[in-house]
Amino acid sequence: MIRAENVHKFYGELHVLKGVNLHVAPGEVCAILGPSGSGKSTLIRCFNELEEISAGRIYLNGELLGMKEASAPWWQPWRKGQTELAKLTEKEIARQRSQIGMVFQRFNLFGHRTALENVMEAPLRVLGLKPEAAKKLAIAELEKVGLGDRLDHYPAQLSGGQQQRVAIARALAMKPQVMLFDEPTSALDPELVGEVLQVMQDLAAEGMTMVVVTHEIAFAREVADRVVFMDDGQIVESGPAKEVINNPQHSRTKEFLAEVL
Ligand code: ADP
Ligand code: MG
Repeated sequence: MIRAENVHKFYGELHVLKGVNLHVAPGEVCAILGPSGSGKSTLIRCFNELEEISAGRIYLNGELLGMKEASAPWWQPWRKGQTELAKLTEKEIARQRSQIGMVFQRFNLFGHRTALENVMEAPLRVLGLKPEAAKKLAIAELEKVGLGDRLDHYPAQLSGGQQQRVAIARALAMKPQVMLFDEPTSALDPELVGEVLQVMQDLAAEGMTMVVVTHEIAFAREVADRVVFMDDGQIVESGPAKEVINNPQHSRTKEFLAEVL
């Protein structure tokens, strides 16, 4: 579903991703662990085309992200029949991005809109659904995350855990092929973490393909199929979740797990 091949990312001189290779199969839940600053957020922001990669390729369901094969330009007749990579237009990138749901640490809901209006927004504007259809869809997604009785609440009237569940419903309303989560519970009070993890676990059980950056080791062990450990812009260890967490091989993974467990 997602295939990253030798992905590099520079911010100016700073080499943040140093040749990342990652395959996520359909229906797989992949947890990304690693210390702060190791490039986890950057990697999944690249998956969502919020960042442009400096080298390498990323495919979503076989389709190259951000670029396409183009034939050599007419003014270079000596290159006739050759192809090169061309950047996609903003519109084409927006279409690709709409297939990928993303949930951030901070929920970024529209404060002056109700839960229902927040979830309806993208189906109305991006998918072009009629208001009635968007409303029906939004209600279904909010019910799915257990907020069927909070449709008309504004974000300020909801707990952090409820707001994050609205954010998940909002992403799901676009019927994405993949869901990306960047530390979705890190900003929550401890007593609200469980309800968000439960929604994510239900989503995983339904077969959603998910990439989850998290420090919730128990969640990674129980829910993820695979764990990837990043350090200094590279994947240093990857394998079945229980194996990597219970029996890490790389010294950096061992140190990290010893600190967080
Ligand atoms: P993580 O999510 O694992 O904590 P990040 O992907 O956020 O790591 O960051 C990796 C590195 O890239 C860090 O050194 C960070 O300071 C740097 N970085 C992230 N975003 C930017 C940016 N927009 N401009 C410059 N440097 C950045
Ligand atoms: Mg991060």
